[in-house]
Amino acid sequence: MQLPLPKHLDEQKVILRISPEKDVDGFHPQSVGALSIGLKGFVSCTPAGVIELLKRYNIEIAGKNCVVVGRSNIVGKPVSLLLLREHGTVTICHSRTQNLKEVVQTADIVVAAVGIPNFIKGDMIKEGAAIIDVGINRLENGKLCGDVDFKACEKKASYITPVPGGVGPMTIAMLMHNCVLAAEK
Ligand code: NDP
Repeated sequence: MQLPLPKHLDEQKVILRISPEKDVDGFHPQSVGALSIGLKGFVSCTPAGVIELLKRYNIEIAGKNCVVVGRSNIVGKPVSLLLLREHGTVTICHSRTQNLKEVVQTADIVVAAVGIPNFIKGDMIKEGAAIIDVGINRLENGKLCGDVDFKACEKKASYITPVPGGVGPMTIAMLMHNCVLAAEK
């Protein structure tokens, strides 16, 4: 399901009509509940893609300071729960967070899901941090850019995902993964 839905549709009503057995987006309250208490269930695709990326590149999560900027139901909250499940020490930031720069500076892993172009600046990044940029923002010139100032941050980061070409394709891959699981049920 492509969110946001057109304004005349009630998102929660539509989500509740999806069978949890076929909830490949992981948006149904049953899937979200399962994730939060560590039961099996569909995990939403972008957060699952973020964890897959970290694992494939052997980036240690356990015991690391993970700072997630954004607390949406489709990215910020589920990715925070997944990082916690992997034993990260997780801090979630949002529009009311005070001293955001100082909080992000403590991160070994930064996940940016804000929706504001180049929001994460170079001086917010600790030397050697891994940066996962979930943002997809269309600039006035038509180009896509992430939530992270890539040029400034790549100088300090040990790993950094590009936009486009980083988390976006992982979301599609995880959706395919969930579709196969749903078909096999
Ligand atoms: P939302 O708009 O739903 O959430 C944005 C979050 O950022 C909110 O929690 C908001 O806080 C927080 N925020 C906004 N302004 C600030 C600020 N100044 N300081 C700190 N936090 C702030 O966005 P989504 O989570 O849906 O998406 C985020 C980005 O990821 C977008 O660019 C979107 O296009 C992209 N995206 C990419 C996907 C992919 O496949 N790569 C999939 C899904 C999204 P508050 O809650 O307080 O308002």
